Amino acid sequence: MVTRSLIACQTEPAPASWQQMLGSALTDVTELLAALGLDPADIPDLDPESNSFRLLVPRSFVALMQPGNPHDPLLRQVLPLRIEQAQVSGYINDPVNDAAAVYAPGLLRKYAGRVLLMTTTACALHCRYCFRRHLQPAALGISTRHHDNAIAQIAEDSSLTEVILSGGDPLLLDDAQLTTLLAQFNNIGHLRRVRIHTRMPTLIPTRITPQLCTLLAQSRLTPIIVIHVNHAQELGHDQATALQQLRAAGITLLNQSVLLRGVNDDSATLAQLSERLFDCGVLPYYLHQLDPVAGAAHFQISDVAALELLNQLRAQLPGYLVPRLVREIPGAAAKYPL
Ligand SMILES: *Cc1c(COP(=O)(O)O)cnc(C)c1O
Ligand code: SF4
Repeated sequence: MVTRSLIACQTEPAPASWQQMLGSALTDVTELLAALGLDPADIPDLDPESNSFRLLVPRSFVALMQPGNPHDPLLRQVLPLRIEQAQVSGYINDPVNDAAAVYAPGLLRKYAGRVLLMTTTACALHCRYCFRRHLQPAALGISTRHHDNAIAQIAEDSSLTEVILSGGDPLLLDDAQLTTLLAQFNNIGHLRRVRIHTRMPTLIPTRITPQLCTLLAQSRLTPIIVIHVNHAQELGHDQATALQQLRAAGITLLNQSVLLRGVNDDSATLAQLSERLFDCGVLPYYLHQLDPVAGAAHFQISDVAALELLNQLRAQLPGYLVPRLVREIPGAAAKYPL
């Protein structure tokens, strides 16, 4: 009996590392639909090729989708549709004019006191509505070797108190790369906070390891993590556990969402999201009006409808669970409240 149970233990698969989860992410539309028990005919506007911005979705995210539901709010965030090819006036490739904010290669400065470092162009998931979906890394100076110039620029500008790691997704950097970056920031006396904008804690929760928590908690700078969740269904058990680990390490957790037609454009869905976030130790921060990026016009909600949703939300929730409804206006001094 002992021998048999030992064998059982040995054949039990080890949990996949986050790198393995990335490597096994789905890139094939037919395979994704099959995993959900859906037929391509269930989705009339499907674009199975999606050559310009291919499907990419980790299996841990697919596992949170409702099988058999072509309108699943998680599926809708990743599924390529032919309507993305439509030319809609006002929807352009760089809707937030990142190109005008390049401060050093891969470094953007739009707002007082903070800069945004584009650490990588890779993401663990391709969001169909992403404002950087047409990003040309070369235009913003992003390469694997740009960090040193960016760090030098940050060190020179004593008005900066906060550095934001963005991308792509900065938690696709491994711990050694993050350690190096954080050590460089620690040496810049005027920096007080380091903020990480990432979808990894919810897309691939195994990225959140005790080593990562220690690495962030030991920094001289106060760490903040801003996650990106659009629907309560994205916060399953493993996601909640990962977020609780970060909270236990003393890291402030905030969430930003994008208001998306067919995903989260009703007040009950948004209220559930805020409640579930708070249960996971996360405060709602921003609810973004969609940036008018080419290919995403079908996700847009009118400002009038967005403000109506916000009013409904205010009537249902305590003030601290109501996100700030904002839009990015190129050239403005801050994200602009609606
Ligand atoms: C959105 C953004 C920030 C962060 O703005 P906060 O209002 O501080 O969250 C900083 N830099 C750039 C370039 C941004 O686009
Ligand atoms: S995770 Fe962020 S940067 Fe990456 S595709 Fe989604 S919205 Fe774009």
